[in-house]
Amino acid sequence: MILPGATLGMLGGGQLGRMFIVAARTMGYRTIVLDPDPQSPAGRIADEHLMSEYEDPQALDRLANECAAVTTEFENIPASTLDRLARHCVVSPGSLAVATTQNRIYEKTFLRDHGFPTAPFAFVQSESDLVDAFEKINSPAILKVSRFGYDGKGQAKAKDVREALVAWNDMKREPCVLEGQVPLDTEVSVILARGIDNEMAVYPLSENSHANGVLDITVVPASVSPGLIEEAKSMACRIAVQLDYVGVLAVEFFISHGRLLVNEIAPRPHNSGHYTMDACVTSQFEQQVRAMCGLPLGDTRLLSPAAMVNLLGDLWKDGEPRWEQILKSPRAKLHLYGKREARPGRKMGHYTCLASTAMEARDEALKIQQELGQHC
Ligand code: AMP
Repeated sequence: MILPGATLGMLGGGQLGRMFIVAARTMGYRTIVLDPDPQSPAGRIADEHLMSEYEDPQALDRLANECAAVTTEFENIPASTLDRLARHCVVSPGSLAVATTQNRIYEKTFLRDHGFPTAPFAFVQSESDLVDAFEKINSPAILKVSRFGYDGKGQAKAKDVREALVAWNDMKREPCVLEGQVPLDTEVSVILARGIDNEMAVYPLSENSHANGVLDITVVPASVSPGLIEEAKSMACRIAVQLDYVGVLAVEFFISHGRLLVNEIAPRPHNSGHYTMDACVTSQFEQQVRAMCGLPLGDTRLLSPAAMVNLLGDLWKDGEPRWEQILKSPRAKLHLYGKREARPGRKMGHYTCLASTAMEARDEALKIQQELGQHC
């Protein structure tokens, strides 16, 4: 077990890294963040901030020498970086899981090869692939770039091959996945942790609504049948086992015509798990610390129904948002990520409302959202 007093490393300095640093420092660990951005939200609150690229050999040697364990907050970390660090210290998740989930083509191949259900898809690496893919999928379809897409970026809807071709040209003919657009009953996600000794801890299912491709609101517990809840949890656990995963993992699902389809896998804590910070015995970030340090995993029990709303940069269009609209509610918890520049669509923070039922938590969260003027 790696105990408090030891140094932990975080690859990436965004908000997920920042919330991990808060959890790790609260538990008494020393922390180092590697992120080239001097303003990175996590770097600014870590004990040490290495402002270097993710493949910089000197920075990686420094991290490897000082840290007992290293983790990541985003999937685009090069596998070679994780492999290099793994020769000197504990690295979780491992490079195989990160490499698989950072590329939609590898991720879909993994899901298909292991028999996990997904929306219909086909790979596009040439113009003839695109024509064949469209024939196989049939309209409507969504073209998704295989690497570096997030929050609906690098995605385009297409009604026919002509539209798909225009979109593909806009994506500079990068390798893509063409996915059938399935009718959604709702969307849910499972966050889980798997320890070094294969122990698993699974959080309650959350129900997610998106606006413009970005997560808008998460409500817990999800209003889906107990059968689907168990099936989603069991599928997420099997995915973790097949990836030989150690750390916190998120699996996003579509529910379409009453059936679960795996949408995406994230090898890290997830936006739809932020509710765990205020509503569960153990937050997903404390769980990340526990998993990488070989500590027993924390209790994932939900202490209260909750609804989490993202605060996007659009809210800053007329200056600083009116935070009193959130803070006046005794059941709302505000989290801001310390980002200096508010850009449209950029995740700047979130708030979580706790209440005695999921419906009440959701109503309170939506009331606040309306008062703040988000989506107006
Ligand atoms: P993604 O970044 O791929 O998770 O997509 C962002 C959001 O777009 C999803 O959470 C869905 O709301 C929607 N979406 C993406 N792919 C599909 C699909 N194949 N069918 C229906 N909706 C989709």
